[in-house]
Amino acid sequence: MRRISIFGATGSIGQSAIDLIRRTPDQYQVVALTGGRNIAQLANDARELNAEMAVTAFPEYLGDLQAALSGSGITVAAGEAALIEAADRPADWILSAIVGAAGLAPGLRALRQGTTLALANKESLVAAGPLLMRETKAHGATLLPVDSEHSAIFQALVGEEMDAVERIIITASGGAFRDWPIENLATATLAQAQTHPNWDMGQRITIDSASMFNKALEVIETKEYFGVTPDKIEVIVHPQSMIHAMVGFNDGGLMAHVGPADMRHAIGYALHWPKRGFVPVERLDFAKLAKLEFRAPDELRWPALRLAREVINAGGLTGAVFNAAKETALDAFIAGKIGFMQMAEVVEEALSRNTDAASHNNDQVTLDMVRKTDHLARQTAKEIIRQQGA
Ligand code: NDP
Repeated sequence: MRRISIFGATGSIGQSAIDLIRRTPDQYQVVALTGGRNIAQLANDARELNAEMAVTAFPEYLGDLQAALSGSGITVAAGEAALIEAADRPADWILSAIVGAAGLAPGLRALRQGTTLALANKESLVAAGPLLMRETKAHGATLLPVDSEHSAIFQALVGEEMDAVERIIITASGGAFRDWPIENLATATLAQAQTHPNWDMGQRITIDSASMFNKALEVIETKEYFGVTPDKIEVIVHPQSMIHAMVGFNDGGLMAHVGPADMRHAIGYALHWPKRGFVPVERLDFAKLAKLEFRAPDELRWPALRLAREVINAGGLTGAVFNAAKETALDAFIAGKIGFMQMAEVVEEALSRNTDAASHNNDQVTLDMVRKTDHLARQTAKEIIRQQGA
């Protein structure tokens, strides 16, 4: 039996992972499940999968979780220290699917076990990529991508030499507003932004898809995972979301990863890796696919893509600034304090006020430094939002 833990079990990715595990429960011993505010879901899943431990990230929900799991024998805990305790519990496979920078500390801690960390939490790689990579190596751990694009790239690279890679192309659906007149974007509402044409995902990543901040994070993620320079990373708008990524080689060959828009494929690949195992996603019928379209992304519509390249070029802790400012701007948009296009303005201004972040040497970055930079960048972004008169 493989011992597995899921961080962010109550979210969209966590629930997809549980959907896979529940099909063959005798293959897995569930060690820890963590969630946030969705206590009913967390308690139900912990009971059903007979987890050893259930953790809510928020101490104010501890009483509810204790009540929901009373008599079950499952260890119940809450807060950041409890997430770390869960990450210390020996497991063969740990899924990092908390949303936002909050996923970084438990993910880093899990790596110390020398385990396999399946990483959906792209924000931690953007904020602290070199640190995550260093810790992975230092502890003999394995980091597997659970983003559809990066899983696709990873699969296309099996058996290949990185020296032969000329380009990595990641696709973007274009999100909710890809066909909107650009002048209408300033007045786009929350309800409009949180509806995705192809993927069924959590609220935050869905809005990030509409603004392309999600793709910007993925460009940085690509650089961190695969160690390529930004000139080798391309983004192409592909409204059908059938091709997730392509890798181009020095002989002109291009490997494209094609599949349905269902995150269970990427999660299942990481779960079964290094083998392939059955995953119950739709099988594509090419005769029924009407067409596959591609178009270059418009960086006036999606300034986040330009910012991503600037972040990579700046280096150091600039990714931590970018992610923290992005999360703060997204909070402000969700709260109705700023408009849709102002998110990128806030992030760009926060980057320009935190240029010191670039001076850090990647090899010396620590969790403490990332946290301080994250905190400062959030303060800066809040200040910018206030100054904008929102
Ligand atoms: P959701 O918002 O659906 O779920 C987030 C999870 O994190 C929930 O379990 C939530 O708990 C928990 N959580 C929220 N805030 C905190 C916190 N401060 N501390 C600890 N846990 C917290 O997100 P998604 O599943 O959509 O995304 C998860 C991660 O995977 C993100 O990094 C995202 O970018 C990435 N990703 C997602 C994809 C998708 O298809 N959804 C695709 C590729 C990557 P609760 O809900 O109980 O409050």
